[in-house]
Amino acid sequence: MAAGTESLAAPDKLQSLGEHAAACPHCRLAETRTQVVFGSGSPIAQLMFVGEAPGFHEDQQGVPFVGAAGKLLERLLGEIGLARADVYIANVLKCRPPGNRDPQPDEIEACQPWLFQQIELIRPRVIATLGNFSTKLLTGNPAGITRVHGVAQDVVVGSTRVVLFPIYHPAAALYTPALLRVLEEDFRKLVPLLGGSEVPVMPPASVPPPAAAPEQPAGTAQLGLF
Ligand code: SF4
Repeated sequence: MAAGTESLAAPDKLQSLGEHAAACPHCRLAETRTQVVFGSGSPIAQLMFVGEAPGFHEDQQGVPFVGAAGKLLERLLGEIGLARADVYIANVLKCRPPGNRDPQPDEIEACQPWLFQQIELIRPRVIATLGNFSTKLLTGNPAGITRVHGVAQDVVVGSTRVVLFPIYHPAAALYTPALLRVLEEDFRKLVPLLGGSEVPVMPPASVPPPAAAPEQPAGTAQLGLF
């Protein structure tokens, strides 16, 4: 926790934490980032998403999930009656790996205190991990997303007990359109976890055309989404 913030309310502490993170020098990605992408959304959200790392557009704009994957995430949220402003969105890494390569273990270790403090301050009821990296980090289990998606787990992060719900990273559905239905099904399962009623099954959605898939400049597709 940032020094001198003990008397602040949690949302103010979260803002202060983000201001500290903006100058973070704790791993090599500090040398290549445009800016730190700390997180965005409601500081009192009941639902928090944790993705992998900023991509090209996120690094430019300083906001997570602003490219094609972000648009799909917003659409999936809309289908269960939520807007982006209702949730909090962050990543395991706060800085973009060059060329969108996979996060390295030492980078994850250096960066995870920021994420754990975000979780402690937001105290969401449900954390939806998007893809392998956040799922493995927050479950402490090496089982991959293909095995564990769509099934809720009780986990303790720091002193915060949460329901953890692994979901494929939306970018995975952009590269493998057949996963879109799986994503939609898993998003519907979030509703009862948040205390709501089941969402009726929607008619089949149109799969994004391949041309919409590349969110990044050619040759910079993120790996490890599956
Ligand atoms: S990735 Fe995380 S640990 Fe590395 S410089 Fe950025 S904020 Fe700091």
